Amino acid sequence: MGFEFKKMEAAEDTQATVDLSGDIEKVKCLIIGSGPAGYTAAIYASRANLSPVVYQGLEPGGQLTTTTEVDNFPGYPEGVTGPVMMEDLKAQAERFGADSRWGIVSSVDLSKRPFKAIVDGKKQIEAESIIISTGATAKYLGLDSEDKFKGSGVSACATCDGFFYKGKDVAVVGGGDTAAEEATYLAGLCNKVYLIIRKDYMRASKAMIERVEKIKNLEVLYQHVTKEITGGMVVEGATLDNNGKEVKIDIDGFFVAIGHTPQSDIFKEWVNIDEEGYIETIPGTSKTNVAGVFAAGDVIDKDYKQAITAAGSGCKAALDAEKFLAEQA
Ligand code: NDP
Repeated sequence: MGFEFKKMEAAEDTQATVDLSGDIEKVKCLIIGSGPAGYTAAIYASRANLSPVVYQGLEPGGQLTTTTEVDNFPGYPEGVTGPVMMEDLKAQAERFGADSRWGIVSSVDLSKRPFKAIVDGKKQIEAESIIISTGATAKYLGLDSEDKFKGSGVSACATCDGFFYKGKDVAVVGGGDTAAEEATYLAGLCNKVYLIIRKDYMRASKAMIERVEKIKNLEVLYQHVTKEITGGMVVEGATLDNNGKEVKIDIDGFFVAIGHTPQSDIFKEWVNIDEEGYIETIPGTSKTNVAGVFAAGDVIDKDYKQAITAAGSGCKAALDAEKFLAEQA
């Protein structure tokens, strides 16, 4: 049975809840999360002699490892698969001495420096600085058939996977700005796009709704709920419910765009997060409200959510951490 830090009423009481038996590893820079933000931070931090330790988390390599071809990351003129790109980033970080490890940081105590982190409920780390790059996970509908076709017709990223459906028919589920944007993007590539919305209105901004409603090859299906995604080896259709009436559509791709959940739970008692769970940083920097704790990538980004923007913010976080540690020396 592992243990975790619990924030007490007064920060100085926090130590009392932690079993401090066993070895404590001391590190200068702990990077939590291993997507493009985490590994870019690791490249910069290791080149700055911060000897970063990266804990890879539940999904080593991050969300990109669940996508197929990545054609929009600069430096890969022929494109690259998500998993290969993440292996490349990891190898580049390790080349400069970053220590990338399996393991999940299960709790943290950011009440004072050195910060404390528990890995997998047992290993204790003390870190002079922390870079949080835990990312966000796309929400899915939770259907068995959705699980079955993940990677073979079901995707949560139109920008990543839309290209494979050029000239084909697809559906997007969701009524927010993301769904509207993804449907618009796909309409530029595909023969036909269905936008499946469970309510009788869209939650997206007025401008987006107007834009979507003008697109000729985009059909909005209000008050439709997806019951099942159908097909053999790949997606071939979907069965929807429209107020008790069964509706079947023929599609080759099914895009889920019902929002993302930032992975900020274990930090929320310490760093400022917004109402949607994104970690707040001082504008233009990666600094959180806790001096020495930085955040980068999708866990701070509700708008762009691209590998390249995550990588850029990981770079900033490492530079901010380096400057912070130099000032403490
Ligand atoms: P939102 O939370 O705004 O919208 C999620 C949508 O998915 C809603 O329409 C919701 O339906 C629907 N949904 C949720 N669960 C299900 C389900 N189980 N089945 C069917 N539909 C479901 O998420 P977004 O990702 O769209 O946007 C997140 C934030 O990012 C927003 O603030 C948005 O404005 C912002 N954003 C801004 C952009 C921009 O300015 N360019 C671009 C993209 C996002 P319901 O309405 O019924 O709850």
